[in-house]
Amino acid sequence: MSIRPLPQAVADAIAAGEVVERPASVLKELLENALDAGAGRISIEIRGAGRNLIRVADDGLGIAPEDLRLAFQRHATSKLATLDDLESISTLGFRGEALASIAAVADVECTTRGRRIHLRGGRLLEEAAAAPAPGTVVEVRDLFANTPARLKFLKSEATETAACLRVAQQYALLRPDLAFQVTVDGKVALRTTGAGLPDAIGAVHGRPVAGEMLLLNAPAARGAVSQPRTSRGNRDAILLAVNHRPITSRPLAFALEECYRGSLERGRFPICVIDLEVDPATLDVNVHPAKREIRFRDEGAVFAQLQKAVRAALAGSEVPRLRAPVANLQGGERSNSTHRSGQLTMHEAALKFAAVANGPGGVLRPIGQVRDGYLVAEGPEGLVLIDQHAAHERVLFNRFRGRIESGKPLSQPLLIPLTVELDAAAMVAVADHQAELRSLGFQVEAFGTRSVRLLAAPLETPVSRVEGALLEVLDGLRGRSLDAALATLSCHSAVRFGDSLEPAEQRRLIEELQGTSSGETCPHGRPTRLLLEWQELKRHFRRNY
Ligand code: ADP
Ligand code: MG
Repeated sequence: MSIRPLPQAVADAIAAGEVVERPASVLKELLENALDAGAGRISIEIRGAGRNLIRVADDGLGIAPEDLRLAFQRHATSKLATLDDLESISTLGFRGEALASIAAVADVECTTRGRRIHLRGGRLLEEAAAAPAPGTVVEVRDLFANTPARLKFLKSEATETAACLRVAQQYALLRPDLAFQVTVDGKVALRTTGAGLPDAIGAVHGRPVAGEMLLLNAPAARGAVSQPRTSRGNRDAILLAVNHRPITSRPLAFALEECYRGSLERGRFPICVIDLEVDPATLDVNVHPAKREIRFRDEGAVFAQLQKAVRAALAGSEVPRLRAPVANLQGGERSNSTHRSGQLTMHEAALKFAAVANGPGGVLRPIGQVRDGYLVAEGPEGLVLIDQHAAHERVLFNRFRGRIESGKPLSQPLLIPLTVELDAAAMVAVADHQAELRSLGFQVEAFGTRSVRLLAAPLETPVSRVEGALLEVLDGLRGRSLDAALATLSCHSAVRFGDSLEPAEQRRLIEELQGTSSGETCPHGRPTRLLLEWQELKRHFRRNY
């Protein structure tokens, strides 16, 4: 076959594929245009999973009548003029191809500033006067009707609808100052009022979640992150953005998850909205046709910017509190289980956690140890139970991490140096991680090709567990992260559940736990303590004074 230029309509439909993959991408582009036009109120209608109708109405600037036709031409934009402008983009759109792309694969009507234009499959059908109204309305029908191949790739109606809703939710969260309304097949699926982030989070994730969020309070980061006790089993509720633009970024997702390391169990993920403010001149947003990815000139700086904001917010998280099931305790309305046993047991109460403001603050007075595993203490707000192993793990973890940071190890020389056999990979790890090992307090020297001599170990690690600790730490340093290695070392060095502790040891552990940050969980994310509030005891014993 000879080579010839494609007819315009075919070329346009091919180009459209990059921008318009599915109904949600149409909605995304229309929403971005509404936002770029300075809208305060945006209303979205989805029918038939976006294939029948996607309608976006805004109250923004609108398009001048003489520009209307131009807006639907490829590479026609009001948002940049010169190549230099591309260096510092502050609008969501800039490629000037969304409207053209959408019109190439659908039936589109756009009404703005008293004028209406109607295109289908890339062809202009009509342009005429319309009743003047503020803002712009874009209606997209019969999406992909002329590109059956694309239609075949669409997923189920439920999936495509969910993808549309997700796009709307993302912008509703990133612009909590605006009012969004989404209806899906005639039913309201999302409504925000523009009253701020907590409200928007309530609308998207529900009120209870909104109450669990810690607002970021950093100059160049807006948003909120969930307290560790509120998490999800997947990453769907993580929203990362730069300059109000939602992005996917593995490094930033990793930066976020690192902030929760040690306070979320494996496989659990936070809920968050993080909108970083980054100088547009240090970004390249033009790496992906749908603008989902971004390249940073200084990725490390953005990484740090995120972690600083999130860590500061998380420093305000709260300790879980024990709450007796209130309804069962008051008046004659006692549940069957309460009745059977004739009393509401602590055990029953212990199953219920609830969020109450403020941590247990104040100084704890040690009372004793039970089951050789829990410490009991009295605090100003109630009785505190402490898991001695988890608590000690946290204390040691923070201490080890401090030593790594300060480079000041504390170690105990071994009276008899220990010869430890290692496999080849572990031998390499010893060589590669000398500095970390030293700052943890391990003093290791090569001893033949397959073994090392351990001359000293961290002060806290019992001699009987030194070898196991070294092996685990090497494993951690090699495969996973330093924090994982520290968590393992802490686990090996901590008192065990089942160790009987002298009163002096109990007191010291309680004091240390109170002085440590993130003390409410162990490095693996399990809770270290539980508070039984005096209030609950009073209620339980029906003491009304
Ligand atoms: P881009 O957003 O990249 O400029 P589009 O194809 O999405 O390209 O839009 C083309 C132009 O049409 C925009 O630059 C803008 O001037 C205008 N436009 C599109 N939608 C709207 C809207 N909702 N309100 C005001 N102007 C709009
Ligand atoms: Mg656009």
